[in-house]
Amino acid sequence: MAFSYSNLSRHTSKEKNRLPPELLREIVRFYSTQNTTLDQDHATSSKPPWQLFSSLSSASKTLRALALGFWFAIFVVRHVYDLLDSNIPFPEIKTSWTREIHFIRWPKGLQFNIVENFMRLSKIRIDCSKADVVPPRESNGQLLLKDIELEIRNLYWPSPLVTQYISRTFPTLRVLRLRQTRTWCGLCHTCCIPEFQPPLPTVIRYEGGTGLPTHYAQALSPLEYLEAVYLDVGVVASGKTTLSSHEGRNPDFWIGECDRCIEVMYEDESFRKEWLAKKKNPAVKPPRLTTVEWSFLSKEDFDSSSWSDDSEE
Ligand SMILES: [Zn+2]
Repeated sequence: MAFSYSNLSRHTSKEKNRLPPELLREIVRFYSTQNTTLDQDHATSSKPPWQLFSSLSSASKTLRALALGFWFAIFVVRHVYDLLDSNIPFPEIKTSWTREIHFIRWPKGLQFNIVENFMRLSKIRIDCSKADVVPPRESNGQLLLKDIELEIRNLYWPSPLVTQYISRTFPTLRVLRLRQTRTWCGLCHTCCIPEFQPPLPTVIRYEGGTGLPTHYAQALSPLEYLEAVYLDVGVVASGKTTLSSHEGRNPDFWIGECDRCIEVMYEDESFRKEWLAKKKNPAVKPPRLTTVEWSFLSKEDFDSSSWSDDSEE
């Protein structure tokens, strides 16, 4: 779809040529969608810059309302004070516009139930930095909204303590996305960047409720509405073990184990078989979990500060 905003402005300024509001809405929706998919860099928001909407918003009263509505679909929070009613510029942000709240840093001291007044909210995104203590020492209360997706980026040490915190704080979660360089090895109980021999995997998908690190599955098991977990992790080509995305090239049913543990511990065939059976039939897991998808990203896909030195040792 291609159109000129100057033409659109001229048309809407004339009563006889005014476009139907339904069509205008679809045009602005399309424009907004086109500019909300550029988010590949963790340091930026999915929210498009206002400059892309400002001329549209001045074309007419109708277009201004539509442009504001779509632009505030993502509400960026820099400080917990941004969520106070006195600091929210339009009441429609809470009643109808906002679908996603994006915390661009860990919301220290926030009680998450404060966002329950956002009537159309369907997603919360939280960006962390290396300096953030996650999980935090203080409680963030509980968010009980249903049908919510939670995305957390750049966790430096994504241990099961973090997934326990998620489970306590977001008990009605439906989708969980974790984007971080490291993952949890359930054998040596450390976090590390996945490491393999080339060819490197790109995406591995598990159906039927398996595919999570065992300790993650235990920590998330109280989440009765959780249907899907998406894990974006880093990958490096310096490993000694292999794993590719091709069918049949995941015989060990990889769920986050580090290269060193696979190399050393899988030498014992009886241990390997026992561990494999445990992974394929976890004792506890979220009851409605159907999809676990691992995506493997390169160093360039992450902020340099989140990529550890230990991957280059
Ligand atoms: Zn390990």
